[in-house]
Amino acid sequence: MNALAATSRNFKNAARILGLDAKIEKSLLIPFREIKVECTIPKDDGSLVSYVGFRVQHDNARGPMKGGIRYHPEVDPDEVNALAQLMTWKTAVADIPYGGAKGGIGCTPRDLSMSELERLTRVFTQKIHDLIGIHTDVPAPDMGTNAQTMAWILDEYSKFHGHSPAVVTGKPIDLGGSLGREAATGRGVVFGTEALLAEYGKSCKGLTFVIQGFGNVGSWAAKLIHERGGKVIAVSDITGAVKNPNGLDITELVKHKESTGSLLNFNGGDNMDPNEILTHECDVLIPSALGGVLNRENASSVRAKFIVEAANHPTDPEADEILSKKGVIILPDIYANAGGVTVSYFEWVQNIQGFMWEEEKVNNELQRYMTRAFHNIKSMCKTYDCNLRMGAFTLGVNRVARATNLRGWEA
Ligand code: NAD
Repeated sequence: MNALAATSRNFKNAARILGLDAKIEKSLLIPFREIKVECTIPKDDGSLVSYVGFRVQHDNARGPMKGGIRYHPEVDPDEVNALAQLMTWKTAVADIPYGGAKGGIGCTPRDLSMSELERLTRVFTQKIHDLIGIHTDVPAPDMGTNAQTMAWILDEYSKFHGHSPAVVTGKPIDLGGSLGREAATGRGVVFGTEALLAEYGKSCKGLTFVIQGFGNVGSWAAKLIHERGGKVIAVSDITGAVKNPNGLDITELVKHKESTGSLLNFNGGDNMDPNEILTHECDVLIPSALGGVLNRENASSVRAKFIVEAANHPTDPEADEILSKKGVIILPDIYANAGGVTVSYFEWVQNIQGFMWEEEKVNNELQRYMTRAFHNIKSMCKTYDCNLRMGAFTLGVNRVARATNLRGWEA
């Protein structure tokens, strides 16, 4: 099942549980605006090349739309649409005053030079500058884009609208980025995991963790779990997988990865088959890489007691059902990885205030938002007798539906 079908199915289940009327259900499912633009740039050799860029603005009932821009060869309108919709529910679950959006350009960033990437980003910004804005739609980095991409968007946008640091988040610190943003998604994953474990009288200390993906999110989550006395017994990335039943020394593993470019042949662990990572026995499994990795083929072999969805939609709906029947507790993506967008919100607030927060304040506020959201989700689970995924979806959808109704329907 593709990302759009899975997201829409969860939305429809939530709408049914909430008893939403058909008019509002339809209005919440259809994106507010879909933008498709052609971006033609001269390559370094003087030849011209064209790329297609997208921005799907899903909903703005609760505030400016918010979501990443990805550069990837398979940027597909359906997936961008699903991810934009997920952002609407995610910002509502986190209770930050935003709607949802997502965008991208169908390109292979590693095949483009820095100057070609800069030209492409500037042309894309020229095409969409009057449809994004501080109080309209605030992009952020995603797959294939980074703080430098945001700096180019900020600069190009500011040529049309004056200096506007709050038009993008995930910027370099020198241009108004927030302290703590880089670690925020991984840190939010750990705050969410702690809130979940506390429900069962547990904490990270002494529990075993397996993490798929050792990029920004996975490596920060691993570091923070290790600091809290959790045992990260296996991790994998695109280069392979490594395990140690007594717990990997994550600080040393990060150094090994930095110096060799790979997780393999780490002298504090043993290489393992990356295909076995998701079914490795552990207390908490944290998929932090790709979507759709837990599916009907492998779900029944999962041996974790808890799954924390750091990646976006790592669990297919079929796998969701199998895992629920097995009694595995899943902390859903629209909550678990909301730490990044929450600190993006703090960045936007700091830019608007023209004031920079200390990192400690950013981290403390993030913990407050993540813990509050968890308790709000649990309260929906209690009211509607549902699992955490439906608790999160009903919480997010209900907040957006309420805001939509309060705004009224008169044209
Ligand atoms: P990243 O590019 O920094 O890291 C991705 C990691 O996944 C890398 O370690 C890569 O080697 C690994 N990977 C890729 N293919 C793999 C495979 N087949 N098996 C095992 N590992 C594989 O990306 P990221 O920013 O850490 O994002 C990870 C996930 O979290 C994505 O699903 C992303 O959408 C989601 N997410 C990220 C953020 C954020 O702020 N970075 C926010 C919300 C959600």
